[in-house]
This record gives sequence, C-alpha cells and structure tokens, in this order.
Amino acid sequence: MTAMVKAEGVHKSFGHIEVLKGIDLEVAPREVFCLIGPSGSGKSTFLRCINHLEKINAGRLWVDGELVGYRQKGDKLYELKDSEVALKRRDIGMVFQRFNLFPHMTAVENVMEAPVQVKGETKAVARERALKLLDRVGLSDRAGNYPSQLSGGQQQRVAIARALAMEPKLMLFDEPTSALDPELVGDVLDVMRGLAEDGMTMVVVTHEMGFAREVGDSLVFMDGGVVVESGNPRDVLTNPQHDRTKAFLSKVL
Ligand code: ADP
Ligand code: MG
Repeated sequence: MTAMVKAEGVHKSFGHIEVLKGIDLEVAPREVFCLIGPSGSGKSTFLRCINHLEKINAGRLWVDGELVGYRQKGDKLYELKDSEVALKRRDIGMVFQRFNLFPHMTAVENVMEAPVQVKGETKAVARERALKLLDRVGLSDRAGNYPSQLSGGQQQRVAIARALAMEPKLMLFDEPTSALDPELVGDVLDVMRGLAEDGMTMVVVTHEMGFAREVGDSLVFMDGGVVVESGNPRDVLTNPQHDRTKAFLSKVL
C-alpha cells in the first residue's frame, strides 16, 4: 500500500538555522497521525513542507506516492512549475491555528469559494456541497452568518468545512484548537473525530493529548528538528522511552 505521506531524511534550513534535521516517517492512508513537541521543534515547518509551502533542502518527501515539488523522469528530478504545484496543493486541506476566513463572506460563501474559483465549479453545485459540509461540522443553521458573528470554535469548524470542500485526500491540522477558549475546543475535536471515523487521512499537530490518545493511530514526538520517539499513542503517552519525551509530557499532561 502506498503511504499517504512518506518522509526520508527530510532537512529544512532557514538561512544557517537547520529546523528539520532528518525526518523519517510514514503516514498510511486513513491514518490519524499526531505530531507533538515543544514550540520551535519544527512541527509547523514539517506540515508546510508537506503542503508545498516550504521547499526541503535535502531528503525526499512524497504525498500519495508522488514526490513533493519534483517530477521524476528516469533518475533525474525536475522542479515542478507553480501551476503544477497549485494542482497538487488542491488535494491537501490545511487548517491553521488562526482560522483565516474571508471576513466579507458568509460561512457558506467561504466554503464555496475555492471550488468555484479554483476548480471552476458552478455556484449551485458548490453551494449544495458547502451546505452539506456545514451540516457535517454542525453549523447548518449558521450558513448565512459572517465570521464576525461566529465564535472562534464555529469559525474553525467553517475553516474545516472550507478545506473539505476541495475534497482533499489528506488533511493537515496545525494546532487547530490552540487559539480557542477551552469551552469551544470540544466541538472542533468532535468534528475531527468524525472525520477520522469517516476514514480521512489526517496529520494533526496538537497539544490535546486526550485527542491523540483516543483518536490517533500513531504519535510522533518531535524535538529540535528530529523525531525523538514514535509509536502507538497510548504507549508513547503512558510509557515514554526517552527523557526528552518524559520531560515534555510532564509539562503538558
Ligand atoms: P513549531 O511549529 O514546532 O513550534 P516551527 O516549525 O514553527 O516550530 O519553527 C521551527 C523553527 O524554525 C523556529 O525556531 C522558527 O523560528 C524557525 N522558523 C520557522 N519558519 C521560519 C522562517 N520562515 N524563517 C526563519 N525561521 C523560521
Ligand atoms: Mg507550530
């Protein structure tokens, strides 16, 4: 079975600062893959590399069997053109800590935007799907509301619906609940749990250890740009093998 994400020796530097120092990992189709680690350990950078927002400096990275950023012909690699990168990015949904909805558009218009603008879908088709997606994230009664009329948790659920509207094969979540008031976190995690149950492949950077334990299939602890420890979330969380993992978990659990 082809991995949905595969990283082999992935390095990424900004100037002379090396942020990713050789990441090896594999995410299987339908897997919920959780990534934890202290601030600055390179989690967001790694997600951004998967999503073509950063170029890696060394190593190889594949999404669904295809090299990120390059086309392979024989044993030669050719850099993808911007238009080719844009096509690949359509297949990957990303949800950030900050929801970044378009403030001048209603919830349903936010969800319709990319299918209409990027895929050239008709508004009628896009609207029908958008309404279904808003229902799926528990916001069918909020379709006509502007972001400013929604709570942070509701905005984040619109952001998830918006990412799903492109029918991605992979969803990346970068601390999707970190900016939310505690009482709003649960609804967002419930939506993510539902997605996981529907078989979506998800890479989730999170500090929600409960979610990682209950929903995650794999857990990776990153620190200083390397994978320190990985495995079944229950095992890693209850019986960490490395001192750095223990120290981190003692702070967050
Ligand atoms: P995390 O998400 O685990 O907190 P990040 O991937 O955001 O970590 O950042 C890892 C390191 O890379 C940090 O030291 C950060 O300052 C640095 N970094 C991230 N993006 C850039 C950038 N565009 N330019 C320079 N340094 C960056
Ligand atoms: Mg981050």
